[in-house]
Amino acid sequence: REKQRLLVVANRLPVSATRKGESSWALELSAGGVRQFETRWIGWPGVNVQDDKGQKSLSSALEEKGFIPVFLDEETVDQYYNGYCNNVLWPLFHYIGLQQEDRLAATRSLQSQFSAYKRANRLFAEVVLSQYQDGDVVWCHDYHLMFLPKFLKEANSRMKLGWFLHTPFPSSEIYRTLPLRSELLKAVLTADLIGFHTYDYARHFVSACTRILGLEGTPEGVEDQGKLTRVAAFPIGIDSERFIKALETDMVRSHIQKLRGRFAGRKVMLGVDRLDMIKGIPQKLLAFEKFLEESPEWQDKVLLVQIAVPTRTDVHEYQRLTSQVHEIVGRINGRFGTLGTVPIHHLDRSLEFHELCALYAITDVLLVTSLRDGMNLVSYEYVACQNTKKGVLILSEFAGAAQSLGAGAILINPWNISEVAASIEDALTMKEVERKERHRHNFMHVTTHTAQVWADTFVSELNDTIVEAELRT
Ligand code: UDP
Repeated sequence: REKQRLLVVANRLPVSATRKGESSWALELSAGGVRQFETRWIGWPGVNVQDDKGQKSLSSALEEKGFIPVFLDEETVDQYYNGYCNNVLWPLFHYIGLQQEDRLAATRSLQSQFSAYKRANRLFAEVVLSQYQDGDVVWCHDYHLMFLPKFLKEANSRMKLGWFLHTPFPSSEIYRTLPLRSELLKAVLTADLIGFHTYDYARHFVSACTRILGLEGTPEGVEDQGKLTRVAAFPIGIDSERFIKALETDMVRSHIQKLRGRFAGRKVMLGVDRLDMIKGIPQKLLAFEKFLEESPEWQDKVLLVQIAVPTRTDVHEYQRLTSQVHEIVGRINGRFGTLGTVPIHHLDRSLEFHELCALYAITDVLLVTSLRDGMNLVSYEYVACQNTKKGVLILSEFAGAAQSLGAGAILINPWNISEVAASIEDALTMKEVERKERHRHNFMHVTTHTAQVWADTFVSELNDTIVEAELRT
C-alpha cells in the first residue's frame, strides 16, 4: 500500500535560504519529516524574492527537499506577520497586556492588518490547492493560519483537514476582547480536527465557541447544526533520540569536559529562553537574587547560566525587556560577585546544538519560569540530556509542559518570588533517591511521547474523525 500523502502547512518552512547568485540558493534544513507519511511542507521561505528567476530557482531547489514555497511581498509580511500575527494574536494568546496605549494605537491599524492576514491566508490556500491530490491529509499549523481551513474547505469540502495551535489558547474572557473574534473562530471551526497542547487550552477554545458563537460544546468538540468539529489535546514532544545520541559524540563529550572544568566546585543552574516577555526572565532573576540573599552559604557555590536568545530585536517592547534584564543581571552580579567570579553568566546569543547539549548535560537545576508558554520544549530537551546526572527541573505551572512533566518537576508560580527561591534551595539540596525517582518519571515521558508519536497520533485521529463523520451521515 502506498503511503498516505501529508501536506504540512505552516507560516515558515523549516529551512533557511540564502541567495548565492541570480539562480542559485544555499539551503539549511531544520526539521525532519513524518516517517509514516509522504510529507510535503508548504510555507513562507523567510526571504523576500520578487523576481521571477529567483522564485523559480528557489522553488526548484526547495522541491528536492519536499518543500513548496509561498511567496509573500514585504508589505504583506509587515501587515500580516509582524502586524496581525505578532502584535495582535501572539500577545493576546499569551495574556500579555501590551500597554493600554499601545493597544489603543494598534486598534487603528487593525482593519488593514486583518485584511493582510486574510490575504496571506488566501495565498497559502492557493499553493495548497495547487499541490493537493484526492486523499491527501492537510495539516495547518498555528495562529498564523486560522483562515486557511475555511478557504480550503470552500474550495473542496471533502478535504481532510486538521489545524493545530502551538501557543496557549487563552480563557474566553481574554479572547473575547479581540475585535474580530467571531470570524476567526468560525474560520478554524471548518477544520475536521482542531488540536491543542493541553486539555486546558482545548477547553478554553470550546468555551469561546459556546460563549461567543452560541454553539454547543460536547466532550468530543464543538457542534454546529449537527456538524461536529473534533477538538482534542495532542501534547507535542521532541526527537529525544537526537539528544541522547548527541551526548555520545566526541564533540559534545569534549565540550562537557571543558564546562565541568570551568564550573568545578559550584552547582550550575541553567535557563534557556528566547528573550521574550512570556519567559519570565526578570522574575527568574529576582527569585535567584532572593535565594542568594537568604542563603549566604550558597553565594560562592552556585551560579546561574542564562542563555537569552535574541528575538524581535527591532521591536521597542523587546528592547525595553533587554535593558531591564541587563539592569537586573548587573545589579545582582555587582552585589554578589567577587574578584574571581560572578553569580550570573548571562549570554545574549544562541548556542550551537552541541554546546546546548553539553550545557544541558552538566546542569544541576533547570529553571523554567514562563509566565505563559504553549509547551516549552527546553524542559523536554533538558530531561533527555540528564540520564547520567539526574538533575532537577523547576517548571512554571503556566508552561504547557507542566501538564506532562508535573510528576517529576518542582512546579512553581513564577510570580511568587519567595516560592521560587525556596524551590531553588530544595532543588540544590535534594537527595539522590528523590532526584532519580523524579527524573525517571520525566525521562520515561520524554522518550515515549516524542514528536514522531505526536504527529502520528494527530494524523490518525484526523483519519478516524473523518470515518466517524461519514458513519454518522
Ligand atoms: N534553542 C536553540 N538555540 C539556542 C537555545 C535554544 O536552537 O541557543 C532551541 C531549543 O533547543 C528549543 C527551542 O529553541 O528547541 C525553544 O523552544 P521552546 O518550546 O522552549 O520555546 P519557544 O522559543 O518556542 O517559545
